[in-house]
Amino acid sequence: MPYDTSNIFARILRGELPATKVYEDDHVLAFNDVAPKAPVHVLVIPKQPFVSMDDFSRIAGPEEVGRFFKTVGEIARELGLAENGYRLILNIGGHGGQEVPHIHVHILGGRPIGPMVMVR
Ligand code: AMP
Repeated sequence: MPYDTSNIFARILRGELPATKVYEDDHVLAFNDVAPKAPVHVLVIPKQPFVSMDDFSRIAGPEEVGRFFKTVGEIARELGLAENGYRLILNIGGHGGQEVPHIHVHILGGRPIGPMVMVR
């Protein structure tokens, strides 16, 4: 699937839509999820236009992928989540339940998050 430059997170990156930013550097932006599923629910995205973990892991180099995931861990620590623990979720494509086609990692914490996969 080609990258859709009109997706919500691309628009946040361009400053066309508001977001409550919790971290930003040259490569990564993190902001609060607009519909939080936990006391802390932050989305972390690379600034480069990747649709999902699929193209990110195929196209981006190991330095870029590694830097991204190191930053996710740093953000979780800065949010005070490391001691009690937290959950990362990365939805990919249709079966993964991905709604926004710009790769994003969910950081969920602030209370026990519950069973690994939510059944509905
Ligand atoms: P996913 O299902 O993994 O694609 O998750 C998309 C997430 O983006 C959901 O948790 C939404 O609540 C969140 N979301 C959608 N629009 C916005 C927005 N404008 N600002 C922040 N989060 C958003």
